Amino acid sequence: MSILLLGANGQVGWQLQRALAPLGLLRICDRRSADLENPQALREMLARERPSIIVNAAAYTAVDKAETDADRARTINTESVAVLADAACQLDAWLVHYSTDYVFNGAKKTAYDEDDPTEPLNVYGQTKLDGEQAIRASGCRHLILRTSWVYAARGSNFAKTMLRLAAERDELKVVADQIGAPTSAELIADCTALMLHRLVSDPALAARASGTYHLVASGQTSWHGYAQLVVAEATRLGWPLRTRVERVQPISAALYPMPAARPANSCLNNQKVQQTFGLHLPDWAFHVKRLLTELTP
Ligand code: NDP
Repeated sequence: MSILLLGANGQVGWQLQRALAPLGLLRICDRRSADLENPQALREMLARERPSIIVNAAAYTAVDKAETDADRARTINTESVAVLADAACQLDAWLVHYSTDYVFNGAKKTAYDEDDPTEPLNVYGQTKLDGEQAIRASGCRHLILRTSWVYAARGSNFAKTMLRLAAERDELKVVADQIGAPTSAELIADCTALMLHRLVSDPALAARASGTYHLVASGQTSWHGYAQLVVAEATRLGWPLRTRVERVQPISAALYPMPAARPANSCLNNQKVQQTFGLHLPDWAFHVKRLLTELTP
């Protein structure tokens, strides 16, 4: 089995390098070897490589910048994804692609199911949704894995920002009226590898499993609850933070305006992926605590 991994230096891509390596011959591509801003070159590369599995961890992920850089976001998140889907079709390959909670408007009161109506609130979410739709329209065998609030030891993310700010300031003000599930890149990569392994070893599953799945940690919290856990756990591990956990103050998103609007409810129901692939997705706090242990000098 030959696997082509795109976006190998991102948070998820880096973990995929580790998790996919034992599955087969892995060809690793970063932006230099496969630039999603150049769909034509991408098409030619895929025709040369002829992988049996394409895993796309590359994306335009600068949510706020996308508001004023929509063309580039669209090329990377939609046009090039359509090229991947076409190639997967022609090669009869599986396409694994990651998408986002930002395809939803966040107005639902409970966790979103895979087939709930979509309505992105920002440009990034729209380009990701259009990418999903291009994959479905192509008819290729695919796993669209929607995830949320991704973090890893390597890369930039909310948890690392909170650690930095908590070392500099006596108090943090953090949004408490947006909820979701912080999800570790490690968990996403491990589950992806397990899913692919099951697909190639179980033809009956492969025949029915193509589709969209919510791949997120279990449970839910707010950005405020997430920041509280980061500060509490780092303090316990001996980090010299100025912010004490009682000084992590909840605020409303309305008091922290950003260029791109975000959904109030980012919770994704992860039952389908667990049932279809026999996975167990742990509570979000499990991997956040592991992250802090990993980052502790
Ligand atoms: P990162 O931003 O950490 O990584 C994205 C990767 O894409 C980077 O390695 C980047 O390359 C690469 N990339 C960007 N532009 C191009 C391009 N033109 N050609 C080739 N590669 C490019 O993202 P994550 O790992 O966090 O995200 C993985 C997936 O999960 C994405 O599909 C994202 O939309 C989705 N997702 C992410 C969430 C999050 O909170 N981060 C939440 C929900 C979904 P370089 O290293 O050179 O910049």
